[in-house]
Amino acid sequence: MTQAFEPPRCPNRRCPMHRAPGPRFYQRRGSYRPACRAEPVPRFRCKHCRRGFSRQTFRLDYRDRKPEFNGPLFQLLIGGTSLRQSARTLCLGVHTVQYKFRKLARGLRLLNRNLLVQLPADRSYLFDELETFEQRSICPLTVPVLIEKSSYAVVATAVAPIRRVARRGSRRQRWLARYESQYGRRPDRSRACVRKVLARLRRLLDGNQGVLITDQKALYASLCRSLLPGQVEHVMVSGKLARTSFNPLFPINMTDSMLRDNNGRLRRRSWLVSKRARCLLLQLEMFAAYRNWHRKRTNRGDPALTPGVQLGVVPRRLKIAELLAWRQDWRDRSIHPASSSGSESVRQWVA
Ligand SMILES: [Zn+2]
Repeated sequence: MTQAFEPPRCPNRRCPMHRAPGPRFYQRRGSYRPACRAEPVPRFRCKHCRRGFSRQTFRLDYRDRKPEFNGPLFQLLIGGTSLRQSARTLCLGVHTVQYKFRKLARGLRLLNRNLLVQLPADRSYLFDELETFEQRSICPLTVPVLIEKSSYAVVATAVAPIRRVARRGSRRQRWLARYESQYGRRPDRSRACVRKVLARLRRLLDGNQGVLITDQKALYASLCRSLLPGQVEHVMVSGKLARTSFNPLFPINMTDSMLRDNNGRLRRRSWLVSKRARCLLLQLEMFAAYRNWHRKRTNRGDPALTPGVQLGVVPRRLKIAELLAWRQDWRDRSIHPASSSGSESVRQWVA
């Protein structure tokens, strides 16, 4: 496997061999044996910019210490385990786990962006908002989630602060007043956040038609009219209908439950709390990668059928080691996760 690796481009962004690599733009320069791996890592040198690099330069675990823990940590974190408990289970320091979580999640956010670039025509989408909080329960957050109906693929998520005022004279209202006198008025960015998610739907539809199913919140109707006029048929379903599998909102209700279950920090009545909204967003990107590219669509049924496969975005189910294999910060020039030799870029697979 290691011998088969051919660098697809020069990793130096300023080198012309990065965007348009010529044939044999590199020389082989032997290999080295890292302490954490059994097999040697091949080294290369770009003939154009004379920079040295190795197979590691293309990997997501580039410069990682203890890369063998990345896969197990990913599995713990998308299984609802907290950062601290993951650290205890893997015998790592909590700061190591926090650092690894942010690095892996940022890599997966880019992977999601690189793979999901267009949505097929004439599909139905479901949209809903979850509520959670950061730091303390008087600091609520809204979490809009957009999925595709038949595949259950998570298309977009976001996180934003919202402001909720409790009954006058109540303990919570006094608590919020104390908090706001110290830190300033809590912003409410609910509208901008929902708008951002629907704008992503518009970009991904790229002129295609679709159906959007939501509950009856007036904001959704007005944003749908202004952002997706004539492109998306907006269907509103009463939130009072029984939450059974016959409810048209069933797929998004189930996704919400799955989000609460798989992401410890979204659980109700739990000690796990997001300290910062942006870390919750990273966790959601990690979940979306797991949900779309690795986890099968339903517990019964074809194990190879993940939401991403059903949507036609990836050719097959991706293993966790593949999700965490190649760095994705070169957009569609990054190596596709299903490419084991590393020679095929995202552009070649998506096209
Ligand atoms: Zn170069």
